[in-house]
Amino acid sequence: MENQRFLVPLPDGLSIEAVYYGSGTLCLSSQAGCALRCPFCASGHLGLRRNLTVDELWQQVEMAQKMGLDLKRLTLSGIGEPLHNAETVMTFLKECRNKALPLSLTTTGYDLSRLEEFLTLPHNGLMLSLHAGTTMAHRRLIPHGPDFNQLWNLLEQNLPRLSRRQRRKIGVNYLLLKGRNDSLTEVDALITRLRPFPDLTLHLLRHNPVPESAYASSDETVLQRLYDHLCQAGVQVRRPNRWRNQSDGGCGTLVLHQDAKRLFGG
Ligand code: SF4
Repeated sequence: MENQRFLVPLPDGLSIEAVYYGSGTLCLSSQAGCALRCPFCASGHLGLRRNLTVDELWQQVEMAQKMGLDLKRLTLSGIGEPLHNAETVMTFLKECRNKALPLSLTTTGYDLSRLEEFLTLPHNGLMLSLHAGTTMAHRRLIPHGPDFNQLWNLLEQNLPRLSRRQRRKIGVNYLLLKGRNDSLTEVDALITRLRPFPDLTLHLLRHNPVPESAYASSDETVLQRLYDHLCQAGVQVRRPNRWRNQSDGGCGTLVLHQDAKRLFGG
């Protein structure tokens, strides 16, 4: 099955997007817009309008169910930084557990005190979007994100306290961006950072082009070379999966519409 991206109208006239991956994962948005405005991402292009409510998170699930989609798991990896809407996300997580719906989330880790709290919650996966091995690249790609060194310090202090099972639910996302973070030097810096954390899995991601950004994905040959290099260095690494590669989906592709009626005639 192909990915299915759909528009969710909100009561105040804004509309957000969600995407169903053919693997059975429904990717939800946690905010209308995003304050972090990462330069490669369409979701934060308009900045943040507001947080979504718990009902609006469920609205996305209900729309997918009405479309007849078979939901195996949910992920808060669409528009927004889940930690910026932490109370709502925590309530939603509790409700998902009550309904036996596994929920994971993707975060930049900002802010760090919330990250510390979320590391221990009973989620089905917490993916840290770092996209960099050095402080400099991290600052360029996530300029409004957490301090890179402080983030690694926090992981150093907190991951050993988690059970192995909990640690295996934490992963690192690395969106490969042509000429921005796909050099061996950059990846070697990440390998050094990852060395004390053998349980962490690194997920390489491809960037799907969006009109809001001139950033491009690394070539397939570069991706393969870096993947082989990471494997040789002993890092647990995964290549991008076919669902995230499709144009309707993938990091930073979902968008907020401020006037969906005008755009879609709805
Ligand atoms: S990549 Fe994530 S954190 Fe950055 S602007 Fe997009 S939605 Fe926000």
